[in-house]
Amino acid sequence: MIIFGTGKSLIHTGEPTFNCAHCGSIQSVGLRFFVHYFHIFWIPMFSYKVKTLSYCTHCRQMLEKRGMTAEQSQHILQEKPRVPLKYFSGLLLGAVLILFIIVAIVNENRQTDKYLQQPQVGDVYGMKQSNGYYTLYLVSQMKGDSLGFRINNYEVPSSSKLSVIRRDHAADYGKSVVFVSKEELEKLMEEKYIVNIRRD
Ligand SMILES: [Zn+2]
Repeated sequence: MIIFGTGKSLIHTGEPTFNCAHCGSIQSVGLRFFVHYFHIFWIPMFSYKVKTLSYCTHCRQMLEKRGMTAEQSQHILQEKPRVPLKYFSGLLLGAVLILFIIVAIVNENRQTDKYLQQPQVGDVYGMKQSNGYYTLYLVSQMKGDSLGFRINNYEVPSSSKLSVIRRDHAADYGKSVVFVSKEELEKLMEEKYIVNIRRD
């Protein structure tokens, strides 16, 4: 269950510089600024407004903007604080996450190119097959300019599900070996039949 909703926090208390019309105290009223934010599991995602109240430190009367004096409401703009970044944690976290994903993709592409150029027994190729399904090819031999692959017994309908084969069928490769030349592999790479190459 995802718990989400809105919250508010006091982010700034102004100096009490105004007189109170309610209790008559001198310089007892200051402005208080509350940030309103949307949260998921109590982690602030983003703030959507800042609300200002006047507050008398003596009689504790609180007034919204429409109850303030003209002088007080003019002061709002002068005193209004910047909303602390932590009230945008969700957005920042999301941006960081996207950045991580981009870096991971760039990194994997770079590694895949490197592994194709310098293959090793044990490399695992994520492969698109002619029937549109995806499976894993395991490098089991290297002979001259060709790589000998054993093909996994399982296939999945999308490249993102290859992780299921990696996890549940990591040892389920057929016995027969299919040889593919380096030239053909480069062609398969260009035509995007090779999704990725992983090495442990
Ligand atoms: Zn008062």
